[in-house]
Amino acid sequence: MAANPQPKSSAVPTVKLLIDGQFVESKAREWRDVVNPATQEVLARVPMCGADEVDQAVQSAAAAFKTWRNVPIAARARVMLKLQELIRRDMKKLAAALTREQGKTLPDAEGDVFRGLEVVEHACSIGTLTLGEIAENVAGGVDTYFIRQPIGVCVGITPFNFPAMIPLWMFPMAIVCGNTFVLKPSEQDPMTPMLLAELAIEAGVPAGVLNVVHGGKESVDALCVHPEVKAVSFVGSCHVGDHVYKLSSHHGKRAQCMMGAKNHAVIMPDANKEQSLNALVGAGFGAAGQRCMATSVAVMVGEANQWIPDIVAKAKTLKLNAGTEKGADLGPLISKQAKERIEGLIEQGVKEGARLELDGRHPKVPGYENGNFMAPTIFSGVKPHHKVYTTEIFGPVLVIVSVDTLDEAIELINANPYGNGTGIFTQSGAAARKFQNEVDVGQVGINVPIPVPVPYFSFTGSRGSKLGDLGPYGKQVVQFYTQVKTVTARWFDDATTSPGIHTTISLK
Ligand code: NAD
Repeated sequence: MAANPQPKSSAVPTVKLLIDGQFVESKAREWRDVVNPATQEVLARVPMCGADEVDQAVQSAAAAFKTWRNVPIAARARVMLKLQELIRRDMKKLAAALTREQGKTLPDAEGDVFRGLEVVEHACSIGTLTLGEIAENVAGGVDTYFIRQPIGVCVGITPFNFPAMIPLWMFPMAIVCGNTFVLKPSEQDPMTPMLLAELAIEAGVPAGVLNVVHGGKESVDALCVHPEVKAVSFVGSCHVGDHVYKLSSHHGKRAQCMMGAKNHAVIMPDANKEQSLNALVGAGFGAAGQRCMATSVAVMVGEANQWIPDIVAKAKTLKLNAGTEKGADLGPLISKQAKERIEGLIEQGVKEGARLELDGRHPKVPGYENGNFMAPTIFSGVKPHHKVYTTEIFGPVLVIVSVDTLDEAIELINANPYGNGTGIFTQSGAAARKFQNEVDVGQVGINVPIPVPVPYFSFTGSRGSKLGDLGPYGKQVVQFYTQVKTVTARWFDDATTSPGIHTTISLK
């Protein structure tokens, strides 16, 4: 992605900012190309905003908060009801735009939108999600209760790999809780988030309640330190998440950072072979391995090790093509840089002595010779010190580690710095229960390859995959986006008021 100044009369459309309810042209000096990863066609130019435009967006959100916080819960929920209807209406359009700029297949793109839509549907239940609690008579004639109140301007910083789902993890729940929001989508695929922002405005989100700025480090840092910002949600890589968490916490914000992954699937020898290997191959290579919950390590236990040739055979049947082409199982990688980085890691894996069972580098995709394609790649005989094991590759590369026992598999997973997702494939309830109990990973699947929780639960993560104690969506995000206030109240009844009654009230 080239960074250069915005030409005065470019034929390529520009990605707008959303500030104060208006879609406006940025005045940024630096712009980047948004590129179709299957063709290299420049789809649009996105501004790299600086602190001045971030400030405009935040000031708009701060002003809107004064009124939005008092809009009745049901009125806020009705905006979300409308938004879910509009997302359904535009599902095909959103998926097509997403495939063009991100590369994933059209069915995957619809899945991306759909998983976000489910969060919007859940946001419609905000009435019951934000209920407080009351204890009557904590002392004679005294009640204590708590209420949940919105906190103010919240910020969302999102990655390239789910340009619909992850913005929808964030702004609907923040807004429906009564907050106002500034979204900073990935500069690699900002067009789908802008379509969602347009739908939000059409659904009735008032001016200033949702704002969108673009860019990279400069805009993110300006958001994390802005005095009006109260909370920062981040999803992306570990090194950026670590930086965002430290910067925003240091400036007194609430912060939650969902970060990188190395997800292990444990294949026990008693697993249903056909089902497990199909699940493994789908979870390893689907979306070109660019899912934070992709299975990137297969841990073959005991005799399951004999199934490696079957995994390779299944991976070979997957069809690599542009996401728009019918029957494609996986599309291109997001950028040329990502492809080169992954090719370098594969080269290093070979040098370090891992066995390259299937080499997906330099595939031929007729009609899309310029695309960032990489076919499924498999290493076996991988050791924990190999770079292909220690690094989040974020591409269609599955590494296979062989162990003798379930205990060894659990030990391996718990020693890995990441703790995002994992799974076990077995027909033994005892093995599954032991795994669920002992593995230190946020999302666990039992015969389920990509165990992303539905929106009534919250997404989570352990160890290096997450910073902050509350996760996105579900009940936890309601806690994240609200401030609890406790009230202790006593009311004097004129008819019964006498010095004798009230001087006896004590909170002890
Ligand atoms: P990224 O960290 O490069 O970018 C994420 C966001 O941070 C983008 O909006 C980007 O503009 C911004 N950014 C980039 N560099 C920055 C810097 N130096 N300072 C401040 N902000 C910066 O991540 P990505 O490549 O877009 O996404 C892939 C990563 O996201 C993978 O590591 C993946 O595992 C992770 N991810 C995690 C989850 C989860 O829920 N745990 C979900 C999706 C993706």
